[in-house]
This record gives sequence, C-alpha cells and structure tokens, in this order.
Amino acid sequence: MSGIPHLTVDLDAPGVSRGHLVVPGGVDRGELSLPVFSLNKGEGPRLLVTGGNHGNELEGPLVARRLIESLPETQTCGTVIVLPVLNPLAVEAWSRNTPLDGLNLNRVFPGRAGGSVTERIADAVSRVLLPMADTVFDLHSFEPTWDFPPAATTHPIADPDLMARTVRMAEAFKLPLTLVWDYNDTAGMFDIVAQNQGKVFVCTEFGGGTVGADNLAIYEAGVRNALIALGLIEGKAEYPTSRQPKSGQTLETHPHDELKSPAAGIFEPRCSVLDQVKDGDLIGILHPMDSLSAVSIDIRAHGTSIVVAIRSGAHVHANQGVALVARPPKN
Ligand SMILES: [Zn+2]
Repeated sequence: MSGIPHLTVDLDAPGVSRGHLVVPGGVDRGELSLPVFSLNKGEGPRLLVTGGNHGNELEGPLVARRLIESLPETQTCGTVIVLPVLNPLAVEAWSRNTPLDGLNLNRVFPGRAGGSVTERIADAVSRVLLPMADTVFDLHSFEPTWDFPPAATTHPIADPDLMARTVRMAEAFKLPLTLVWDYNDTAGMFDIVAQNQGKVFVCTEFGGGTVGADNLAIYEAGVRNALIALGLIEGKAEYPTSRQPKSGQTLETHPHDELKSPAAGIFEPRCSVLDQVKDGDLIGILHPMDSLSAVSIDIRAHGTSIVVAIRSGAHVHANQGVALVARPPKN
C-alpha cells in the first residue's frame, strides 16, 4: 500500500473505529501515521473534526482528545471522525509551519501526492478523509503573541446558500464572537477546498498562545454546543465564562514544588493559576500523541497547595516541568 494515502481501519464500520491515516513517505522522510477515531451511529450528519493544523495551536488537539473520550457516551446518531493532530511534525516542534519543509499546512491544500511532507499530509486528508464528511470543524488558536476572543470563523463564500449555512453553524458554537473574515491570503486553505466541494466548514480561533483550563472549558463547550446543533448529541447549550480574579496572598515555593511530566506528549492543564489544590487533586493530564491507545497520565497534587504556574498546553519531554505550586509561608 506504500505510495497511496490510506486508512488502517474502515471508519465507516458501525460503532467505534480507531486506526491511522497513513501519509506515504517521500524523498524528505518516511511515511507518517496519524491517529484517527470514528464513531458511526448510523444515519445523520457526517462530521470531521481536526486539530493541530498549526503546530503551536494546541487547544485543538486537546479538545479533540476530550471529544474522543466523550462521544461513545453522548453521540446518538450520524458519524463523527476525529483527527486530533493533522501535522505531528509541527506539533512536536511547537511550530506554526512544518520544520522539515518550512510549509504552512493550511496554505498547501489540496496538497500534492508527490510533494514534500506537508503537501502529502494535505493530499491524504483531502483524498481520504474529506470525502467522508459533509461538515468540518478545524480547531485552531490564535498566534502566541496575540490575544483573541473565543471565536468561530469563516471566510466569505460565493455561494449564498453555503454562506448562510456556514454562518448558522458557526453561530451554533455560541462563542463570544462569530467572525466572517475577509482577507487575501486564502489560497491553499483547508476551508477553501472543503467549501469548494459544498461542505460546511467552521474554523474556530482561540487565543493566544497560552492554553488554560478556563479557556479549554469554553472551547470544549463551544464544540459541544455545535454538536448539539447538528443533532449528533443531546443536551442544552452552555455558556461558560472565565472565573473572577482572586484576592492577593503571599506564598512560598521550593524546588520540590515543581511537578514534572511523567512522559513525552502534550500537557493539558486542568487547573488555573491561584487555584487551591488538595492532595490528589488533578493538576493536569499528559497525553502521549504518538498512539491513541497510549493511556493519558494524570498529574496530581502532593498535599494542599496553590498553583502559581502551569504550563500552558505544550508538547513536553519526560521529566520537564509542567506546574509549580506554593504554600502560605510558615512563621
Ligand atoms: Zn491556525
């Protein structure tokens, strides 16, 4: 099968399927296997959810992982396909573009079978996954040096009917901002290719740069709201908001108060700075991203303490610091 992008499982099979989208090797590197999940519950919408299009936007892969965990209990009809990381080479480097060829994945769609690795990823997604979906959510974040409200975005679409359906879908996320974004640098974007095939495509933006528990809750609720609107899951829309600031306090911290990552992967923060945690409370989760069958690892507090620093969602190495806790000074 080398040379042809393909799936290692039949994503149309009833029930849960877990496998890989295989991106063939080329002159620059060998083949890539992107973990992919699908849940087919029969008739209904066919949704593709992707994250990690840009490697320094990590809310998307985390929200995608949470979706994979929740769908078996919540999905009532249709098919949802989830590819948490479109570009693992960029995610591992926390880089917008692919380090190997310097290309921006979201500017090379529909890709090229004989091209460099970024073009081959786009080709595999365009040829293998895109035809399976009628609706696509591509989960992005804003650039690290910007702040940006939680938003569902689209570009202007020439077809007025598709434009109206796309805006309605974007509004169904119920995020603070729905943005129709007109700008010039759209050649080769994933959404343009999907929209040209008549598909509803929503790009979520969120930012920027720091991944926090509060923001992840908003992002996750937005995606859940959209799935409710599609009829894929049951429930009522939610509007989570950030918590209020807390009052000032004097704390101290020591070298052993740093929590380290138990393995390589993406660190998902599960608490915010200045949260008080008790012994055994969840600080965050380490998600190995090389395989969907690799178990995510909880990172828990040792004793009562207050979180004063937490890694903002990043690909980390084993034994790299992910959080720092502190306590009131002992007098
Ligand atoms: Zn992006």
